Amino acid sequence: MPSECPCCGAGLWWHGYTFAYFDNIPKAVILRRLRCPSCKSVHRLRPKAFWSRFRYSIQVIRQVLDCFIKNDWQSVSPGSRQRLWWQRFRNQAKLIIGMNWGLLSGVFDLLVNRGQIPVSSVILFDLPAIKHQPTEVCFCPP
Ligand SMILES: [Zn+2]
Repeated sequence: MPSECPCCGAGLWWHGYTFAYFDNIPKAVILRRLRCPSCKSVHRLRPKAFWSRFRYSIQVIRQVLDCFIKNDWQSVSPGSRQRLWWQRFRNQAKLIIGMNWGLLSGVFDLLVNRGQIPVSSVILFDLPAIKHQPTEVCFCPP
């Protein structure tokens, strides 16, 4: 469990629970919340395999993007969500590699290593130092 706020570094306090839905889990998952008394931000302790605000795992998102990169459309059968991920990923990748699409396969890891979510609509140009993500613990319903 993180002991410091990822936004400002202050200590965190327990702040109740919340529900979240994840892909392939039919029931809501109960997640613990933490509150920062300094910057007033609230953080959810979500599973490490999921980015904040995404119900699909990082592995699933990566598999979808790999199929797009390889032009393997049959494997993906892209829906609107998958096309949105692809569009956002290409927008972020364009800033890094320009129009050299041959380098696209390495961009996913590059963005993740920079602390960015490759399929987020938010493009970060100057990243603040993120000490750690509050992504370590979740409680599943019985
Ligand atoms: Zn804070």
